[in-house]
Amino acid sequence: MAANDFWDLIESNMPDGARRFADASGRAPVSYDDVRARSARFAHALTRLGVAPGDRVAAQVDKSIEALMLYLACLRCGAAFVPLNTAYTAAEIGYFIEDAQPALFICEPGRLEDVRKLPQSAATRVETLDADGGGSLAARMADMPSDFDNAARGGGDLAAILYTSGTTGRSKGAMLSHANLASNALALRDEWRFSADDVLIHALPIYHAHGLFVATHVTLLAGASLIFQRQFRPADVLAAMEKATVLMGVPTFYTRLLQEPGLDCESVRRMRLFISGSAPLLAETHQAWQARTGHAILERYGMTETGMNTSNPYEGDRRAGTVGFPLWGVEIRIADAETGAALAVDEVGMIEVRGPNVFSGYWRQPEKTAAEFRPDGFFITGDIGTIDARGYVRIVGRAKDLIITGGLNVYPKEVETEIDLVAGVRESAVIGVAHPDFGEAVTAIVVAEEGAALSESAILAALENRLARFKTPKRVMFAPELPRNAMGKVQKNVLRQAYSELYLKRER
Ligand code: AMP
Repeated sequence: MAANDFWDLIESNMPDGARRFADASGRAPVSYDDVRARSARFAHALTRLGVAPGDRVAAQVDKSIEALMLYLACLRCGAAFVPLNTAYTAAEIGYFIEDAQPALFICEPGRLEDVRKLPQSAATRVETLDADGGGSLAARMADMPSDFDNAARGGGDLAAILYTSGTTGRSKGAMLSHANLASNALALRDEWRFSADDVLIHALPIYHAHGLFVATHVTLLAGASLIFQRQFRPADVLAAMEKATVLMGVPTFYTRLLQEPGLDCESVRRMRLFISGSAPLLAETHQAWQARTGHAILERYGMTETGMNTSNPYEGDRRAGTVGFPLWGVEIRIADAETGAALAVDEVGMIEVRGPNVFSGYWRQPEKTAAEFRPDGFFITGDIGTIDARGYVRIVGRAKDLIITGGLNVYPKEVETEIDLVAGVRESAVIGVAHPDFGEAVTAIVVAEEGAALSESAILAALENRLARFKTPKRVMFAPELPRNAMGKVQKNVLRQAYSELYLKRER
């Protein structure tokens, strides 16, 4: 059988076939034998539909075990899997089809007509897969053989294209190779001490690297198993902790779970590890979690283009507000954003990363790719941060969120941290809003704790002497909540849009 880089690694780590791979509520348990057989059947179905090595297979489908098997089938038949966020509209799908030019597009049955009508899909075959594992593609794989002659794939071959969330401009397709995925999966399995005894609660979406790669790969490479939940519901996650050992989540999981009265040391007694990433975990959440459960959440940092870059230590000090140390084989440096010159300990600058996890470029966008790599191969993440004397990496914010007010740089995170310390503040977001005098004005959007009587003047008074004048918000606005995407990231572009006329109107 031909060598297939990442699939071979997965298969060589698979335990005895009868061992459980996943439990999905309302569905029969899935064994490792099932993983082998179902991914083979899907691979046959794809091949019969004309998918050849090097082709793209795009899918906008609900979360299901079959959707995971479809991804593994793509690895096996040498196609690049292109998962798409289920929130995209049919019109948006047109862009992705035009850009990725998939040989096959798989959607929910209810979407079929809309997708077929898209002018961009004229040359693409469209099949369906529903949340229960039914649909036209599932029907095609049903009586296929349970073994498959894998396509030959080397480490450098494309395994997937993941589109970045694209808050500015069109989203770009990050090309991830077999070797990118394999190296990161091995580093994480070992760093987080995954073993065949682990049971991971999987409540993340699988159109994103966090749920599709990080959670799934460490489980497969350890021969561990999943409690596979269709979506995140705090009560369901809490109930699953009785049988689980690890939870992987975005910060919102943890803030929502803290609102569950049943969360206490007793309810987590089987759990060994809580991991958070994809967005910043508030130090306050870290502390509240430790007080309630006795566990220090392990925060890590990654992105679509690189997989995971850093992690707090499994053994050792998991420091709130930091994302820990570079993973095995990954190099991180803080550089001057303009010149690329390396900066010293504690200096704020661009986080740059190099290693076997880093993608090879954006799909069919060589100029954009070139602009985001340094000549020595470091990828410019767009995240601003520091590394302290002990080596902990800290993220200060995104470069594009940097506020330049009256010619001075303000990092929103620094201002948010101070505002969050004010009694009665639940959380805050600080953005730059166009201002006739300052260019941009530092502007805070604050969510108050229930029942707290907060005012703009009270917050500004509390910030006096804690922040330099130019960093202090010109206005403080209140909102019932902050807009977040499914990965728990605050959508600052939505806020910038909502408040874009704040100062212009007032001064007209
Ligand atoms: P995505 O490509 O959707 O995974 O988003 C990647 C971005 O999420 C990174 O560039 C960071 O800005 C942010 N991110 C991921 N993990 C963390 C973290 N632990 N703390 C702060 N930001 C994070």
